[in-house]
Formats: sequence, C-alpha cells, structure tokens
Amino acid sequence: MTQNLRLQAALEHARHGRAVLPVYWSTGGRCACGRADCHSPAKHPIPELVPRGVKQATTSRVVIRAWWAFAPLANPALADSLRQLEQQHEPLPLTQRVRTGSGEHLYFRYPRTHLKNTAGKLGAGLDVRCCGGYVVTVGAVHRSGHVYAWQAGCRPDQVALADPPAWLLGRLTTPDPRPLVPSRTPHRGYAAAALASEERQLLQTPIGQRNTRLNLAAFRLGRFIATEALANGDVEAVLFDVAARLGIPPHEARATIASGLRAGVARSH
Ligand SMILES: [Zn+2]
Repeated sequence: MTQNLRLQAALEHARHGRAVLPVYWSTGGRCACGRADCHSPAKHPIPELVPRGVKQATTSRVVIRAWWAFAPLANPALADSLRQLEQQHEPLPLTQRVRTGSGEHLYFRYPRTHLKNTAGKLGAGLDVRCCGGYVVTVGAVHRSGHVYAWQAGCRPDQVALADPPAWLLGRLTTPDPRPLVPSRTPHRGYAAAALASEERQLLQTPIGQRNTRLNLAAFRLGRFIATEALANGDVEAVLFDVAARLGIPPHEARATIASGLRAGVARSH
C-alpha cells in the first residue's frame, strides 16, 4: 500500500474504471509549472508525462504508478471523456438518464444497426451496451449503497428516448482511429498510451483467444522496449497482471509473454 495519498486517490479512481491523469500542484501558493502567467494554476496536465493531455488519461495502474513515481506531488485529475466528446461534436440530446453507483447511464433508441458492446472504446470510462448486453437499472442497489435512480427531469414519463446522434454512431461503427503503429522512436507518452490500450484490449479478449492475444500484446510492446520508450519491467508487470486477471496460469503466461517480447524486440533491430 502506498503512503502517497494523491497516488492512492488516483489508483482508487482507476479501480472504479475512471481514467485519471496527473496535473500540476500548488507550491507556495503558485503553480508548480513555474510560469508567472500560468492560466490554470495547479490544474493543468504535466506535459512531460501526458503531452497529449486528457487524451492520455488512463486506468492502467502501472502507468499511474509510473507517473506518480516521477511526480509524487502531482494532483490526480479525472478525465470527463463524455464532456470532451460533446465539445468536439455537439451536446447529446435530452434523453432518459439513470444515476448509477459511480456514474450515469444514458438511454438511446435502438439505431437499427447493431453496435458492439464495448468498454472504453468510445472514450475512457465510456461503455456501450446494445443487443446481448445489459445494464443494471433503476431500483437496483450498488454495492456502495447507492440506489440507481432516474436523473431529475430524465424519467421516461418526462422525456422520450432520443435517437443516438450521427456523430456518436459514426464513432461506434468506424474502426479505432488510432491503430498501434510504433515508429522507430515513439514518444514516451504515446508508448504509455499504447501500454494502457493493450491492457484494455486484453481484458476484453474472449476466452480461447487470450493466449494468442497476450502474445500479440507482448510482441507489440516489445517494439517499444527496443526503442526504450517503455521499460521491460513495466511492460512485464502489466502483462503479468492482466494475465492473472484473465485467469491464465502463471507458467503459461510467463512463456507466452517471454516469447512475444523476444520476437517484438528482435523485429525492431
Ligand atoms: Zn501552471
């Protein structure tokens, strides 16, 4: 257990699926970034760690630990991916909404085309449920004791189900716009994002494909190790952690990870 309360808070958010990022802190009443004209004291992302800002917010415990090892005083900030998407496109229409134990569910009319059930693909902390998926709903009690309830003004007798806006469907029906194509010298921030992305994808891999997918993840991440964008120990820690969570036996995980990493590192030379 870490003694760093800020790191502890960041890990706690991540444990609940909320993506975090490190922002500057206050020192002597001023922003630790050191700029006299800082516009957002103790609130803006630390560029050395997250050059692409909120886009790099993550729930990866290894990445988070690495950030706070570098900047123990950093304040944890939460990414509001949905707000970001709305700013990028347009606000979501008025529709039925449910307050859950740790967030919110927005209900939309079925778009006449099946959407994949995804976790985190739309944005950090944003899950999508369509045919074959389900959500816990009004009347249920979260383990925190919170009761799921309609948001004020968003009950079925107050608003109709809205159609999902075109931009939302567009994002849910096109392939991931940021494929993993490591360059010779990928940026550390990019590498950290790739690490988090591999972790996320692994956790969504169906049983039966997990060993193959673990091998692929090790291969891809091995290329980052070769260019020193990621440390071997960090990558191994993430992969072993995910393997354990997926129920892959340790001796099997060790062999798969080692061969994937070896091949990935070799391919980069
Ligand atoms: Zn500042």
